[in-house]
Amino acid sequence: MSASTTSAKYHRKSFGLKEEVQDELQRAYESDLITGMRNNGNTLAVGDVTIRLAEAFGFCWGVDRAVSMAYETRKHFPNRRIWITNEIIHNPVVNSRLREMGIDFVPIGDDQKKDFSGIAAGDVVILPAFGASVDEMRLLEDKSCEIVDTTCPWVSRVWNRVAKYQHADFTAIIHGKYKHEETIATSSRARHYLIVQSIPDAEWVCKYILYGGARDQFLSKFKKASSPGFDPDRHLLRVGIANQTTMLKGETEQIGKLFERIMLEKYGPSKIDEHFLSPGDTICNATQERQDAIIKLVEEPLQVILVIGGYNSSNTGHLHEIAVEKGIPAYHIDGPACIGPGNLIEHKPLHGGDPETRENWLPDGAVTIGVTSGASTPDQVVAEVIEKVIAIKSTTA
Ligand code: SF4
Repeated sequence: MSASTTSAKYHRKSFGLKEEVQDELQRAYESDLITGMRNNGNTLAVGDVTIRLAEAFGFCWGVDRAVSMAYETRKHFPNRRIWITNEIIHNPVVNSRLREMGIDFVPIGDDQKKDFSGIAAGDVVILPAFGASVDEMRLLEDKSCEIVDTTCPWVSRVWNRVAKYQHADFTAIIHGKYKHEETIATSSRARHYLIVQSIPDAEWVCKYILYGGARDQFLSKFKKASSPGFDPDRHLLRVGIANQTTMLKGETEQIGKLFERIMLEKYGPSKIDEHFLSPGDTICNATQERQDAIIKLVEEPLQVILVIGGYNSSNTGHLHEIAVEKGIPAYHIDGPACIGPGNLIEHKPLHGGDPETRENWLPDGAVTIGVTSGASTPDQVVAEVIEKVIAIKSTTA
């Protein structure tokens, strides 16, 4: 099923150039301001503004590794054409830096599909932190490309789980978004799969498992979120749970428990192992740590929360969701350009749609602002946002 990962043209490890790219990475993405705040209980107080940083935020280990491997790749292949099959991570600053280094992104054609036609034999192709589908890997291999695979080991862990389900002839129930690249890559490793994005989706499927229902309605509801030829009456007899690593952990657990309960009810405890497999320990720690940190932060007396990260970053969206649920005004922005001029902010609403502008988002007088950022947001971006907020408050005070 999977493409060859043993060829000499397949690279999964660092090229040993970490030290050479270290300074460049530090200059580009780290920030003295944030380091100082970390050493000061995650707090900065300037005039009327107090900034409280979440205990865990920003670049995760997997993203750090992927970005560093991309920089190393440029050094290792100084004269080769280098591509990335997708944004290396969901962050506009990082992606534009890579473009400046002469790394090309595989373009999207008019049909909204990736256009690989410009890639020639011998070109170097970087696979992003959230991986690539089996078909994509095959295609690149057939083109005789040099592949640099930065897939996060946590994502690979889920793939191993899915491979286990396939081996045991179980259907993978993937908690994720069917359009998300990671979920596309994960589902490509399963013969039969169904993608559920939410608990109501999962409840809907469980009801079908238990009581049956309108097959056509099922197929139409999950048309884009199921494997080709999916048959709900045959492919839901044995299911295993998998997740897009950036989904809310609590939700994945609830979905797992829901399916387990339904299978218990349908088949009884003595047969449960023949019909249900749990996801095991496949949820990424970094996602969990960032979620736990914002849950803790929103308990503090904050007037506003800023959640910083790419608009297409799933884990950033979840941090925003947690903040909004607490009822504190929370704004998801993708960088300092979203702030100003004056007391204006451009932000992405929680449930999608175009970015919106809000006037007078910063209250008068003393204000405490909670700040967090997604796993693909460099510290430097967070620092620039904080500096801008302080500057606005100092001119409007
Ligand atoms: S969020 Fe988790 S799964 Fe995703 S790249 Fe980071 S460490 Fe890996």
